[in-house]
Amino acid sequence: MDETHGSSDGQNTTERKRKDEPKTNLIIFGPPGAGKGTYASKLAERFSIPAIATGDIFRAEVKTGSVLGENVADYLRSGRLVPDEIVNEVLKNWLNKPESGRGFILDGYPRTVEQAKALDEMTRIDAIINLAVPDEVVVERLSNRRICRSCGAIYNIKYSPKPKVDSKCDKCGEKLYQREDDKPEVIRERLRVYEKQTEPLIVYYKKRKAKFVTIENIQVDAPIDIVLQRILDGLKKAELR
Ligand SMILES: [Zn+2]
Repeated sequence: MDETHGSSDGQNTTERKRKDEPKTNLIIFGPPGAGKGTYASKLAERFSIPAIATGDIFRAEVKTGSVLGENVADYLRSGRLVPDEIVNEVLKNWLNKPESGRGFILDGYPRTVEQAKALDEMTRIDAIINLAVPDEVVVERLSNRRICRSCGAIYNIKYSPKPKVDSKCDKCGEKLYQREDDKPEVIRERLRVYEKQTEPLIVYYKKRKAKFVTIENIQVDAPIDIVLQRILDGLKKAELR
């Protein structure tokens, strides 16, 4: 499936070794509110591979105090979008770490076709998990989301996880609030941005004949375990796990 690493004469020891090890390199796509982070961490746990969210690896790079990290910190501080070259470099460092030796699951990357191309140069991708959630379900789910002012815990006043006492945090008792961008109009705009951003990526990976594990029509009250099982079944069917 991967044209760039396909030739057998160019196969060195590292590549051979890579093939023998059970390794699964996954990307997860899904609109805001699809629970991408939740599924990424469940899959990571299940397969003993790291879930890599760009925000986390940015923070980790900043902590190292490297020149690259300082660069990232400048962008984060100013609130500007971190440019592709820098994101790619941070990710590349990460993929070279032993933790990702058995595979990984990428959450929030690639966001652009340019990033996807850069990723193809770094490694192969085995499958793309695509969480398809109808727009109305996203609006319904996110507009009922509330966050604790104090500890950041996330709740949903209509669906799980519900707070025991309305508008109060189970963990610390603080008041819950609704984020500005969880208001229906803003959610619809976020969905438009997501679709505009993701469509070219789907086209790109389809052209490259990547394997897709698409979970269609996820409903607002879909239990996490059931959706997770659908993903696992899909991966099995794609002969990946
Ligand atoms: Zn709290």
